[in-house]
Amino acid sequence: MLRFHPWVFSGAIKKIEGKPAEGELVEVVSNEGDLLGIGHYQVGSISVRMISFTRETIDFGFWKNKLYQAYLVRKCLNLAENPENNVYRLVHGEGDGLPGLIIDIYNDTAVMQAHSVGMYLLRDQFARALLDIYGNRLIAVYDKSEGTVPFKANTGAQNGYLYGFSQTGIVLEYGNQFRVDWVDGQKTGFFIDQRENRQMVKQYAKDRTVLNVFGYTGGFSVYALRGGAKLVHSVDSSEKAIELTNQNVTMNFPHANHEAFTVDAFEYLNNIDNKYDLIILDPPAFAKHQDALRNALQAYKRINTRAFTKIKAGGILFTFSCSQVVNKDQFRQAVFSAAAIAKRNVRILHQLTQPADHPVNIFHPEGEYLKGLVLYVE
Ligand code: SAH
Repeated sequence: MLRFHPWVFSGAIKKIEGKPAEGELVEVVSNEGDLLGIGHYQVGSISVRMISFTRETIDFGFWKNKLYQAYLVRKCLNLAENPENNVYRLVHGEGDGLPGLIIDIYNDTAVMQAHSVGMYLLRDQFARALLDIYGNRLIAVYDKSEGTVPFKANTGAQNGYLYGFSQTGIVLEYGNQFRVDWVDGQKTGFFIDQRENRQMVKQYAKDRTVLNVFGYTGGFSVYALRGGAKLVHSVDSSEKAIELTNQNVTMNFPHANHEAFTVDAFEYLNNIDNKYDLIILDPPAFAKHQDALRNALQAYKRINTRAFTKIKAGGILFTFSCSQVVNKDQFRQAVFSAAAIAKRNVRILHQLTQPADHPVNIFHPEGEYLKGLVLYVE
């Protein structure tokens, strides 16, 4: 039985015929000579990223149809064509059958990020397909692959506009306004993957004193204020992020009871008193590779211990991990240890994950990366 996993590891390849160039489409054939599929070749531990499992022509029409299918999914999720929401992920790599490709939509600007050489080489075709699908709703397509396309492949990738030009834009996420800077911001500019979890913070925020740690540009802070928080503090080590946090909060709530601090999260959590009764911990991926796993788990344990120690009785802790190499059980175990060290009674209220515009391909379980727990701390 074929398992349709989109990655072919180099160790699984018996023989390479000819000399495929990096990023070229190649056929993958079984020992018996049957076609298994077609994918992008690349030097590295993943040799082929599968694009199709049948014999078919892979041309502009093929790519455009893939993007259009992804668009229909976002429309069905009521994320596209929604007057209250114009920021969403259009293409989530393997989850949308396009390994190595990310496309995020920021109102009138699409930001594409290639993680494979094959996808990078197709960037102009993707820009053209986007314009065909969106028409004049798109004024610019920005390519941000410089830092993500494999360095060793020498593609010479440089970030820049593939089509048009647009200034840092203001987007609407479920009616909340955010300024997004795709050129200088982190990732493609905004952490779209926390949209639904921000909604949940809104539900719990009423009359609470909220601390948003690793807040980036203040996504959770705005939703906490929307939900009626008494006071919100945002913390991030990036000065630029804090600047945008202040702008975002003021844009939505000109008189909010909010303050933002540029400071290391570990240091901040060490020095707070027990005033907060809703804390959000959304750290960066502590482990980017398997060999960093042990240290990452320690780091999760450390920050969660601090939060458990400091949170008020009856408080709510939202705690997240976006490291792909840390699985759900390992993360829960780290949070469990933290609760035990802090000697707090903890109930799991909700188990959170990534939203539906970051879908998981059923044949590629590795695509599930975001884990969150909402905890009631007695
Ligand atoms: N919660 C955010 C996304 C967080 S991404 C949102 O909803 O948009 C992780 C953030 O942690 C980044 O903004 C990064 O600048 C910040 N960061 C990384 N290391 C940090 C540290 N040691 N202390 C404080 N912030 C840190």
